[in-house]
Amino acid sequence: MNRQLWLNFALFFMVGGTFASGVLADGETAPARDPKQPVDAAYTEKIHKYTTQPFFTSPLVDYLPASKTVPTPQTVLGDISGAPGILPYAEDVYKYMRLLEKATPRVRVFSIGKTEEGREMIAVAVSSEENIKNLEENRARLAKLADPRTIKLDDAEADKLVAQAVPIYYITGTIHSPETGAPTALMELAYRLAVDESPYIKEIRYGTITLITPVVEVDGRDRMVDIYKWHLAHPKEFFPWLVYWGKYVAHDNNRDAMGVTLKLTENVLNTYVNWKAQVLHDLHESVPYLYDNTIGDEPYNAWIDPILADEWQIIGWNNVSAMTKFGMPGVFAHGDFDTWSPGYLMFMAAMHNGISRLYETFGNGGADTEERTLQPEEYARTWYRQNPPLPKVLWSQRDNNNYEETGLLTSLHFFNENKRMFLKNFYLKAKRSVRKPSEEGPAAYVLSADDPRPGLQAELLQVLQKQAVEISRSKSAFTVTLPAKKSKEAAKGKKEKDDKAEPTAPTAREFPAGSYVVRMDQPYSRIADALLDHQYWSPDDPQKTPYDDTGWTFGELFHVQVTRVTDAKVLDVPIDRVPEVRAPGGVKGDGAVFAINNNAEPALATLRYKLKDASIDAAEESFESGGKKFNRGSLVIRGVSRADLDRTAAELGVQITALGSAPSVKTHPVRAARIAFVHTWLSTQTEGWWRQALDKLGVPYDYMSTQAIAKTPELNAKYDVILFPPAGGWGNSVTAIVNGVPTAWGNPLPWKNTPQTPNLVGKNDSTDDMRPGLGWDGVARLQEFVQKGGVLLTATDTSWLALSLGFAEGISTQNANKLKIVGSVVGTRLVDDASPIAYGYDEKGAAYCDNGPIFSLSSIAGQRGRRRLGPEMHARPTGRGSMDDPDFTVGRVGVEAPEAPKFEIWESPPVMDEQKRNGFRVIPAAMRPRVIFRYADSKDLLISGLVEGGDEIAQHPAVVDAPSGKGHVVLFSINPVYRGETWGTYSMVLNTILNFDSLNAGRRDAAEAK
Ligand SMILES: [Zn+2]
Repeated sequence: MNRQLWLNFALFFMVGGTFASGVLADGETAPARDPKQPVDAAYTEKIHKYTTQPFFTSPLVDYLPASKTVPTPQTVLGDISGAPGILPYAEDVYKYMRLLEKATPRVRVFSIGKTEEGREMIAVAVSSEENIKNLEENRARLAKLADPRTIKLDDAEADKLVAQAVPIYYITGTIHSPETGAPTALMELAYRLAVDESPYIKEIRYGTITLITPVVEVDGRDRMVDIYKWHLAHPKEFFPWLVYWGKYVAHDNNRDAMGVTLKLTENVLNTYVNWKAQVLHDLHESVPYLYDNTIGDEPYNAWIDPILADEWQIIGWNNVSAMTKFGMPGVFAHGDFDTWSPGYLMFMAAMHNGISRLYETFGNGGADTEERTLQPEEYARTWYRQNPPLPKVLWSQRDNNNYEETGLLTSLHFFNENKRMFLKNFYLKAKRSVRKPSEEGPAAYVLSADDPRPGLQAELLQVLQKQAVEISRSKSAFTVTLPAKKSKEAAKGKKEKDDKAEPTAPTAREFPAGSYVVRMDQPYSRIADALLDHQYWSPDDPQKTPYDDTGWTFGELFHVQVTRVTDAKVLDVPIDRVPEVRAPGGVKGDGAVFAINNNAEPALATLRYKLKDASIDAAEESFESGGKKFNRGSLVIRGVSRADLDRTAAELGVQITALGSAPSVKTHPVRAARIAFVHTWLSTQTEGWWRQALDKLGVPYDYMSTQAIAKTPELNAKYDVILFPPAGGWGNSVTAIVNGVPTAWGNPLPWKNTPQTPNLVGKNDSTDDMRPGLGWDGVARLQEFVQKGGVLLTATDTSWLALSLGFAEGISTQNANKLKIVGSVVGTRLVDDASPIAYGYDEKGAAYCDNGPIFSLSSIAGQRGRRRLGPEMHARPTGRGSMDDPDFTVGRVGVEAPEAPKFEIWESPPVMDEQKRNGFRVIPAAMRPRVIFRYADSKDLLISGLVEGGDEIAQHPAVVDAPSGKGHVVLFSINPVYRGETWGTYSMVLNTILNFDSLNAGRRDAAEAK
């Protein structure tokens, strides 16, 4: 800091001192230090030194109070929090928190679980000695407010508890690994809360319990620190990008709060729910200088209690107000974040009757102090940002820490001052959740005991149980009345045509005994309602750029029947609580041949890989045996003992029937394919969800980079199936995947363990240089693999890649013009039920789509498939007669043109006579792509979320099996494996894997091939 700045700094302090006492309202506590408590002079001097502008700090953090007994963060860091060049590993952060715990009874550290790679996660409680001593007593009070059924929804009793309880404010840091500032800010925050004797901080300490998880993504933090250390050791070189954060996903670790598939989500959720916290405040870094995005922008999530929307404004605006008074620029609370999706980590508080909050502060992605230049829209003054950030500044990690701590301390203080209101709201939101059936409804969701997919049903219910939702089962059969629904046609004023349209009068629905009931009269009904309900995002919504997915309906994506019941009679059904939902499994009946009815349950793949030595076949037709009907694709198992099979089936929740004899229908073997799983070095997150699903299902694979594919000769000798899941991110182009990052300049970017990077390679992959891509060698290897009989499976952007590289004939893909599907649930239709890829699927289905590629088929090699451009295409030309008459010529006998053959939009167009003349480009029927699933008709396309311009993709193929050489390329336009939310479409991938050498089974045109 230069001399002039120092002077400004001193002047600011003087002004600040008078300001603080002069402007405060009656009874407000000044945000200023206690002059009687000594300051840690050396630490404070460094705070000033590392703060790059006097207005990038506040009276709350521009000093550090001294303590004779409690160590400062410097003890572990070697310098102060936010010092340049210093990023602690999670282990060092924990070491400091445990030193605090040892030094003061005001701090306690709790282990809250482990990550996928076995690293510890912690929560640190900071409060007064008394509050810390009475944690359990306090928890019991909060538990009653959290579940008002325990006090019979008695407001007077609640008021007593509200008066006695100490609220809990839970802060979480660095879930996003390149956003590096939170751990040091939270170390110092814990110290301040434990040590500072200023009235402002003391009030927080005595009135509130601050709970801190300083590192949420622990695996990613350690990798990030590694990379930063590598950067410090090679200051003149470019450094590798953080291609892996956690074991499976990167940025999407903050999109898991619906499916709860990651350890970090589960650990934070359990901590939040078990502590009965009122707030969950997650720290991020991207926007200058502090954006409280919880107020954000519309549309707000439609399942939150309106009380919460109010709380967001109350706390958020106080934040802006307090920091504006400190003179800190760039603090604002509105912006482009909509609050629609409940997938964000902090949103678990919103869905569990608390308050979700999120800061974006400004980080440098490391601890270097750097010149930062902003975009005009970032430094523009707007109605909600009266004191905007500066266009260009020198920015340090300390600046970032100052903002984070100041924001949190003002929030904590304001929260504490209004804690009775917030505690009462906490109770009210829980009470209103319990009263949901009699307020807005529904009364319950019912999942029938006769659902053909009990395994998927159990998976879905287990998600709800992770979310702390109570699940019950009916002791007897029961009937409820379902309301009449307007059909879509009727709603649009059109005439009823479809005889399968929704009923227009109320109907009675009977559910068998043992059906699952998710009652809405429970404290966490809100999250169950949000996950099971449907979503509608209007194309006319003023918000044109949804921040994330717009639809997620779990019943639809799991292919499980979920009935929304508004009839309150459902609450009178006698029930038992189910502590742990499990699908029933085992062998029933007598006989030496065993059969499993195929309903596209992913557990069938698990079973295939577990029973390595069993002989398993798939029936190519449906059959009946012992009075039981088995679908096409049902498995016939031999060569395994009944005891082994029974044990495995029970474990997996698979129901097996012993048959007197094998069915007489045609079968083919179902083999445990050897799988290579391909990733790029550009981005691994989107494929990470696929890895996670396969790991969970116990389907083994070799994990290979595009570089490794390029170097592996004879892929067919090692693999039957190559999965190339979506590359995502900036891998979303053919050139990026093939060429990688340019190597003509710069230095190699290694991803491997070195002395500076001991944690870089976890359970993932390594390379000396991340830059090279698949390369033309790799393209040739993949091509050869397919030609020689291998199966290549691609989805979304890698489907685009496969088609652009000419891996399959007769399919083209096009960019959408008007289509806008932003992470929605769309309708699909089964086209070819004889294909093994379709085994177990119903005619109507649902899938996740995010502007998937639009496939069109052609029967002519090299020709782009046609797209239906609208009804005017076949209109007659101008001439005599009515519109339906043919045009005819005067002076000549009229000739009818040959009728153009009709074909559906998803089909290969029939070959025209002219095309057959010397038709060397005509693809023989047996070599044409086979459409397995297509997108539903336009009117049925939208199930949940946003679909605009859906005509462009409606009816087009969604999953295509393209023969190529001796092998197949199986292309997905949908993404079948995504965020642990799409269990219903997993089997489209698993069926491809299990039937890899029989994909042509049931081809209607197979005879033509021979
Ligand atoms: Zn972030």
